[in-house]
Amino acid sequence: MPTDFSPQIAPGASERMAVIDLAAVRANVARIRQLVGERTLIAVVKADAYGHGAVEVSRAALTAGADMLGVVHVREALALRRAGIDAPLLAWLHTLNTDFSAALAADIELGASGRWDLEAIADAAASAGVTARVHLKVDTGLGRNGSTEEDWPALLARARALEEGGTIKVVGIFSHLAVADEPERAENREQMKRFAADVAAARQAGLTPSLIHLANTPATLTAADAVSPEDLLCSGVRVGLGLYGLSPLADETSADLGLEPVMTVQTFIANVKEVRAGQGVSYGLNYVCERPTTLALVPMGYADGVPRVATGGPVRVYPAGGEPVTARVVGRIAMDQMVLDLGEPGLSDPARGFLGARAVLFGNGENPPVEDWAEAAGTINYEIVTRISQRVERVYIGA
Ligand SMILES: *Cc1c(COP(=O)(O)O)cnc(C)c1O
Repeated sequence: MPTDFSPQIAPGASERMAVIDLAAVRANVARIRQLVGERTLIAVVKADAYGHGAVEVSRAALTAGADMLGVVHVREALALRRAGIDAPLLAWLHTLNTDFSAALAADIELGASGRWDLEAIADAAASAGVTARVHLKVDTGLGRNGSTEEDWPALLARARALEEGGTIKVVGIFSHLAVADEPERAENREQMKRFAADVAAARQAGLTPSLIHLANTPATLTAADAVSPEDLLCSGVRVGLGLYGLSPLADETSADLGLEPVMTVQTFIANVKEVRAGQGVSYGLNYVCERPTTLALVPMGYADGVPRVATGGPVRVYPAGGEPVTARVVGRIAMDQMVLDLGEPGLSDPARGFLGARAVLFGNGENPPVEDWAEAAGTINYEIVTRISQRVERVYIGA
């Protein structure tokens, strides 16, 4: 049973854990592979694989057929190399302090968004006597990094000149979509059109990139319904959220998309007590019990990455020998604790099994979906999983 980890992990083995189901990662990669066919699948494992653990997720994704790994920082890429991962690896966001020499020594492919990073990469390659594998990034509308359309021709010309000098080889061209999670918006088609023209300009400038990549998870999942799926999927895709089994689309669940949520965050109820009507709960006393009830203490808070603003978030509680219940967090979420109102008195009786019960914030199966926490916090599922802190032990199953 994917919802019951007790066979693998004895209660108390870890008091707070994010259980990471690597079998689900592999299933999600297989699902994405169905959608993209033979195209290059770049598994995006930045930010410690959105909080899931970059090394373990990378290994699982590669085992399941991902072709390449994508991270943002060179430091993230170097950490994967140190862990012994030798798959093709791309890092795309740099500063003037980025250690390009270390990146080249570790055979990391580099995104370049403009003249300064292209020149710095070429200089580092010249010093090392190697040829840097570069992916040029063009801003087709998102307005973040990537070359402007105006600077693009000059960047292409400079890249071609550097190629002739042997310091770089442009192996890829990429861009990023602004509203891929709203596939009906016209800006998607505009970005696709611009990107196609930018790639054509690169070829005209004499570059021969083999990997052209635009799509993220929402674009990959919705490409089949696009006017021109080819212009969206290109020759490769960069998929992050989908690896983790989560939906980027407001009106589709993981299950609707054929994905399995990978992370389950759980702890154990640390205290259960009977209170009278009028009892206030947590800092500010914003919540006052209207009638006699039982409160259950969940020993996690914002230091564990549970957003402080997420009062109302659900917790599924599994009392020993009883039926599981889903209760909502009441009152303010503190640094280390939050409180559930179980809704009736008498549940502190040890026979009811609430003290020590497994308490799941979110996960797969019958557990609350992470989207319920995102809604309670006014944010997106990406942020909830990514911010689960290092105080919460990652426990890997399904390896
Ligand atoms: C994070 C990121 C991705 C992955 O986005 P998902 O929606 O998680 O698939 C792809 N490309 C770039 C440039 C990114 O920064």
